[in-house]
Amino acid sequence: MNFKDYVTIVEDWPKEGIKFKDITTLMDNGPAFKAAVDEIVAYAKEKEVDVIVGPEARGFIVGCPVSYALEVGFAPVRKEGKLPRETIRVDYGLEYGSDVLTIHKDAIKPGQRVLFVDDLLATGGTVQATIDLVEQLGGNVVGCAFLIELSYLNGREKLQDYDILKLMEY
Ligand code: IMP
Repeated sequence: MNFKDYVTIVEDWPKEGIKFKDITTLMDNGPAFKAAVDEIVAYAKEKEVDVIVGPEARGFIVGCPVSYALEVGFAPVRKEGKLPRETIRVDYGLEYGSDVLTIHKDAIKPGQRVLFVDDLLATGGTVQATIDLVEQLGGNVVGCAFLIELSYLNGREKLQDYDILKLMEY
């Protein structure tokens, strides 16, 4: 299946000059969305993952069906102040300034094989910050799966020690 047929490119959103990759039109199409999730499920099986980790909000959309299919847990990574129990945090750089991501302290057990899942790899800041959180908790990141890689942003350079699956590349 050519997944790109189901992605909508939105020009100048959220800012002028950005060509936003909108995956809601892929999610809208049952067979296409299932086929995309199934590819990540097959990858996760190969990697023998114990738990899926995904950042809000689109990492939940892509990661949760993978977790359901494999009958393994899903650990949400969220912006500060959103998770109700004890968390650990990481500051990560944005184009202007910085932001914080958090995860529940007991979400990953030491030695667990973790698969990171998100909709899109851009600069790699989000995945790098999440890997930092997982490794602080003793998790072993065995792969990073994305629907889309924006290869011209070189996010992959931050992931040289990790295995990557991407279903589409722009
Ligand atoms: P990074 O941290 O620069 O790699 O950006 C990746 C994060 O930004 C992901 O969580 C994406 O959901 C979001 N993102 C950046 N650009 C796009 C886009 O064009 N479409 C959808 N999400 C995007």
